[in-house]
Parts: sequence; C-alpha cells; structure tokens
Amino acid sequence: MKAVIVGGGILGASLAYRLTTEGVEVELFEAGRLGGGTSAVGAGWLNSLGKEPFDYHLLNISGMAEYATLAREFGHAPWYHASGNLSWTTPDKDEQVRANADRMRTWGYPVELLSPRRITEIEPYLKVPDDVTQVTYYPWEGLADLTQLVGALAHRASVNGAKIHTNSPVASLVAEGDQVTGVTLVDGTTVTADVVAICTGRWSDEIVRTAGVDLPLAPTLGFNIYTGPAPAVLNAMVHTPEVNFRPDGAGRVLARSAEFDNTVPIDAAVDPIPDVGKEILARAVKYLPALEGVPIEGARVAYRSMPGDSHPTIGEVPGRPGLYLMVTHSAGTMGPLLGRLSALEIAHGERDPRLVNFRPERIVTT
Ligand SMILES: Cc1cc2nc3c(=O)[nH]c(=O)nc-3n(C[C@H](O)[C@H](O)[C@H](O)COP(=O)(O)OP(=O)(O)OC[C@H]3O[C@@H](n4cnc5c(N)ncnc54)[C@H](O)[C@@H]3O)c2cc1C
Repeated sequence: MKAVIVGGGILGASLAYRLTTEGVEVELFEAGRLGGGTSAVGAGWLNSLGKEPFDYHLLNISGMAEYATLAREFGHAPWYHASGNLSWTTPDKDEQVRANADRMRTWGYPVELLSPRRITEIEPYLKVPDDVTQVTYYPWEGLADLTQLVGALAHRASVNGAKIHTNSPVASLVAEGDQVTGVTLVDGTTVTADVVAICTGRWSDEIVRTAGVDLPLAPTLGFNIYTGPAPAVLNAMVHTPEVNFRPDGAGRVLARSAEFDNTVPIDAAVDPIPDVGKEILARAVKYLPALEGVPIEGARVAYRSMPGDSHPTIGEVPGRPGLYLMVTHSAGTMGPLLGRLSALEIAHGERDPRLVNFRPERIVTT
C-alpha cells in the first residue's frame, strides 16, 4: 500500500511516522518547511481543560497520555515536558473555579487547589498577587515543542523509508470517477497512491475542493510573542487573568493573551513588534518579574485549523474513497495519538471507537 500525505505539520509528521511503522510506503509533500505552518505558532500546551463533550475530552486526555508513550518509545524526548499547569484568576471567581475543578475531577482529570505559598516553592520566580487565595494546579498537563517534535517524527519516518519533500506544494487532487488516486504538484507532476491523507490544517478546504469536497472551516487568529532569555527558571504553563505564558527553551518565554488574538492580522508585519506585543510582555512582567528589561525577540500570528463546528474531522471522506482527512484544532495535544489511530485505520482498517463522533460525514459534503 502507498500513501501520499499532504502537509508536514504535527498531524502529517505523526501520520507519516506511524504509517511507516505499519509497513505502508509513504511520500509526504509539504508546501514550505516541516512544522512551519500553524504548528510553528501553537503554544504546545497539552491539555483537556474545559474540553467538552465527554468524547472530545476523552480524545484529548488520550492525546496527553500518548505523549508519555511516545517519549518512552523514542527514548530521548527533548520535545516533551510533563510540567503541569498553574492557573489563577481574580478572587471573585474562586467559587466558579472550585465548581470547574469539581466537574473536571468527575471526569477523572486531576486538579489540585494550592495556596500561593506552595506555588512559590514549586516555581520560585513566579509572583502570585497578594489578593490571590488559591491557585489551581493541573498536574497531568504538559508542554510540547511542536517544531522539534515534527522534525523528530519526520526523521524517524524517513529512516523507515518515507520520502519527504519540502517546498513542494500540492496543486490538486487526482481522481478517477469518485476514487481519489493521487495528487498533482505545482510543476505538473502526478504522484499516484492508494490513499491520499490531507493534513494541511487551515488550508484543507482549498485542497479538498479540487476533488469536489466542501469542508467548512472556522479559522480564528492567534498571536504570540517570544522573549529573549530571562534570568529565571520557569517550568510550568502559567495562566493568569490577563496573560498566559510558558517556558520556550534557554530561559525564553512564549506569552500570549486571548484578549489580543484577533487584533493582529495574519498579513501584519511582526517586525517591528506590534504594540499589543509590548502590552503582553508588560503583563507577563507583573507575574514573572525576571522578564523586566528582557527584549521581545519575535512574534508570530497564525490561524487555528478549526473545522466549522470546532471539533476534529478524522477519517475517509464519504463518497471519495482513497481520500482521508485529518483536520483539527488542538492538534498539539492530539497529534501523536491521531497519527497512530489514523495509521492503524489506513493500514489495517482498524476503526478506533474514540473517533466515532469525529468523522468527516459530520461536516463535509460532496
Ligand atoms: C496561537 C495558537 C495557539 C495554539 N495553542 C495550542 C495549544 O496550546 N495546544 C494545542 O493542542 N493546540 C494549540 N494550537 C493548535 C495547534 O497548534 C494546531 O492544531 C496544530 O499545530 C495544527 O497542526 P496541523 O499539522 O494540522 O497543521 P499545520 O501545522 O498548519 O500543518 C499543515 C501544513 O500543510 C502545509 N500545506 C498547506 N497546503 C498545502 C499544499 N497544498 N501542499 C502541501 N502542503 C501544504 C502547510 O505549509 C503546513 O505546514 C494553537 C494554535 C494557535 C494558532
């Protein structure tokens, strides 16, 4: 069996690796560089916090668990940090936080309510405001460095025989009747395959349209800043009422604020850094004072690869045999899991029950 994968983000790289371990011949085409799409901007926070309904939560916690499995399998996993997540809000929301914590616990999701004093023992460089009475700690949550992981997965796939082409955009899908049989590249070359897997994130609607498939997407914008190295040690993901931040390697910090997500257009120059970037840094300094005076080294903006109803769309497209779709938000959390489940389905027809409500028939039309 031969599979062509279109797109080399976290989903395409995970699928490529897992298909090769199942004995499938793989050829992957990436329009730009591996991991250079939304995966280069995703915060890599591995979580299922507030994710509903239960079957979506199950997919996300399975995705979180998959990281630990993959880390064991790889032996060396510098892209995975079992760091936990610390979160606090304004004191008037304490009751609501307790109620949310109770609900998450009933779904088997560990939540601890800690005193600010305990936090300074765990993360000594964090400054929790004096009026905060409780901090919520989610010990199962973690962080991934997605571009590094994409590289590691693609490397293993190519060691297993996958052909990986970068700077190779796919122009259209090729079909004989309804059966999708391959892809045509922008230089006119046609590559045939038994299965074509679409892992093109927020660009997926464009490529499937060439085979007469309508996939509604609802992409939303996200904006991050990246600081220079701070003289501090930070391990966990941190959520405050006005800014969220995480360690980004070598003392650097990735910071963002949902409030500013839609204020920087996708085609905006991020050099010089937009003013909202400076506001995000000013907010982060309040909680991580070691960031005072540290420059912003960069900023990125991207669309989330969000299906129209905001849930994953994974599986063969009805009415288009040979065409397999993998499009979802939170692919940072679920990418390695979805790559494995989809590879088992493509290679052996094994349909995992966790995907039953996340099939393309829910949302695509042909
Ligand atoms: C600001 C922000 C924060 C986020 N934070 C989190 C988070 O904390 N946790 C989490 O789990 N998720 C998060 N996400 C979501 C997560 O990052 C994405 O779901 C994930 O990266 C998508 O991976 P992907 O492989 O589907 O898509 P992408 O990484 O976008 O990969 C798709 C690839 O397809 C290529 N491509 C497109 N068209 C073609 C073509 N015609 N031919 C060949 N190649 C093509 C693109 O160049 C791209 O490299 C966040 C997203 C954003 C924007």
